[in-house]
Amino acid sequence: MSTAAVHCLAVALLLVGVSPGFAAYHRYWGDVHVHTNLSDGKGSLDDVLTYARDVAHLDFVIVTDHDFGNGGPWRMPKADWERVQQKVEEYTVPGKFVAIAGYEWTSQPKYWSEVGPGEPSERLFPGPPRFYNHKNVYFPAPVPYLFNAKDQATQTPDLLAQAVRAAGGLIQNNHPTTGPDGHDQFDYARSCDAVIANTEMLPDVMFYQGKRYVIGGERAVCDFLRRGGKTGFVGGTDTHDLKPAARTAVYATALTRPALFEALRHRRNCAVSQARIALDFRVDGRHMGEEITVEGPPTIAVDVTGTDTLREVALVRDGRVLLTETPSASHVRFTHVDGSFRGHACYYVRVTQADADANGNPSRAWSSPIWVSGNGEGVR
Ligand SMILES: [Zn+2]
Ligand SMILES: [Zn+2]
Repeated sequence: MSTAAVHCLAVALLLVGVSPGFAAYHRYWGDVHVHTNLSDGKGSLDDVLTYARDVAHLDFVIVTDHDFGNGGPWRMPKADWERVQQKVEEYTVPGKFVAIAGYEWTSQPKYWSEVGPGEPSERLFPGPPRFYNHKNVYFPAPVPYLFNAKDQATQTPDLLAQAVRAAGGLIQNNHPTTGPDGHDQFDYARSCDAVIANTEMLPDVMFYQGKRYVIGGERAVCDFLRRGGKTGFVGGTDTHDLKPAARTAVYATALTRPALFEALRHRRNCAVSQARIALDFRVDGRHMGEEITVEGPPTIAVDVTGTDTLREVALVRDGRVLLTETPSASHVRFTHVDGSFRGHACYYVRVTQADADANGNPSRAWSSPIWVSGNGEGVR
């Protein structure tokens, strides 16, 4: 497309009130899940923030220590929460590096009274245990104190979402799994999807020190999407030993805290497991994270630049692989008109590289989904 045509398209899109063209966005790399010695990680806030900026060369990082820990029992003091918020201000230089204050809402089944005999128990809330798993919560501006998982007022995802929405923050589901720990992770009202905007993406199977672990991360997320849930995908190291790394690519208009929040809120982000795989994904010219209406069969455009040979690029529709490309190169670009589209679909792209880490896990990337509804001729 010529420069003039791109310009006309951008103007047209602005005139109809939709998001600007992809050219308006920059890709920023960050880590949305990082611990320090304020909870059960190593290193101070200064250590982690300095590493993120100067060693990992991240554009942004979200500090997410636990609100509660087990060795003690322990809870994050208000003074520590205030310190996190001060430190992120100190390290943030718009356009260069953005630090964000967050915490990990750490729900555990032992908070409920009817835990099984012999199970650890704190019996804070009546009834059978809930397996809500953990959620990272973060804010664009200071808030007085965190909304914790042991407080009756914010003990469920619905209650937490209500409080965080009022404070202007965002939430992400952490380390999803089809195992028992994640049983109730996505058990919240659809009205919460706007504030529980993203989910940390993990593969279904991982290798560690010669052993194979079935996590069911992507499967748990697909099950949620099939039930009508809406979530974007982010990646986090969950580092406890001072090693933040690039795991989330955010497409934002500028490297500022408000612009990053705007992008994360609209799920304009993708997750990577290791290498910085650059992934652009659009349907009918619209960006990842959007909910769109089409007049005819959707046109899906994918553009991937890896750091190694791309083993597979899969287009996933409603939890099932619709098509795969197996380029023997580090870059691939293709379009696909989905002639079998039947009125509603949720698409995303998953990339697998030919490389592997020391444990045998390849680098992967996942775009956030695009939700498509048909309205018009050509769509049955
Ligand atoms: Zn966790
Ligand atoms: Zn964590």
